[in-house]
Amino acid sequence: MGRILGVLRDFLSFVISSFFTNECLICHIPLYEPDGILPVSIQDGWPEGTVIFLQNRFSFNILWGISLPGKVLCNDCWLKLRPVSDYTFLDDIPVIAPFRTNETLLKVIRYLKFSGGISVAKPLSWWMAKALRNYASPCDSALLIQKLIIPVPLHNSRRRERGYNQASLLASCVSAELGCRFSADLLVRVRNTKSQSSLDAPGRRENVLKAFDVLDINKFYDKDIVLVDDLVTTGETARECIRILKLNGFSNIIVLSAGKSLSAAD
Ligand SMILES: [Zn+2]
Repeated sequence: MGRILGVLRDFLSFVISSFFTNECLICHIPLYEPDGILPVSIQDGWPEGTVIFLQNRFSFNILWGISLPGKVLCNDCWLKLRPVSDYTFLDDIPVIAPFRTNETLLKVIRYLKFSGGISVAKPLSWWMAKALRNYASPCDSALLIQKLIIPVPLHNSRRRERGYNQASLLASCVSAELGCRFSADLLVRVRNTKSQSSLDAPGRRENVLKAFDVLDINKFYDKDIVLVDDLVTTGETARECIRILKLNGFSNIIVLSAGKSLSAAD
């Protein structure tokens, strides 16, 4: 019976995936599974594991174990992202990201935010988890499992409008990748704010001031926090979240995002 159900699930996964145009978000070439030929040369700067990533057949479950392919970029377009290995800081808090924000990453993040792009959360979170593992020294990497992964929250009204919080999608995928706990509602957004993208740094700071609060502090008091967002630009949103977390007694915090614009000199 179990075997018949498994075959049925595979069949339904195949039928449903064939209704989706599986093409590269950036250059629109069709994506095949497995995706064609690996690039001849991978430029300097791409870390060990890149080939494994490019060969990985990502998929995500939609319902009852039925899965869809999670590949969203062709190999050449993945390699248009700019990997970074430097660690930057917001005051004393490390900001870890696998990529420097560039035009390609912005397109990927726009898809994640506005096109129901759950398929993009899986491959991005693979890189984010890897960046976090690299940051933790070998002796600390076993301690990663004790961290609590939380997203930068969206206001309820924005989440209802969009249907999901993209930072929460990334955070839950990172926690699954690392085997850590995940909480979508430790930190909440108590005030709806304007989009940060049109504001300068002082405007961004003003916009998010007192926009967050911590719920149910006792449940998670002893946990180290990894705060996840899609992008860190000037860092004002993350800085305000950190301020509230610290006010509530959380002192061991790391910020993790898919891309950052901050440089080591900031
Ligand atoms: Zn492409």
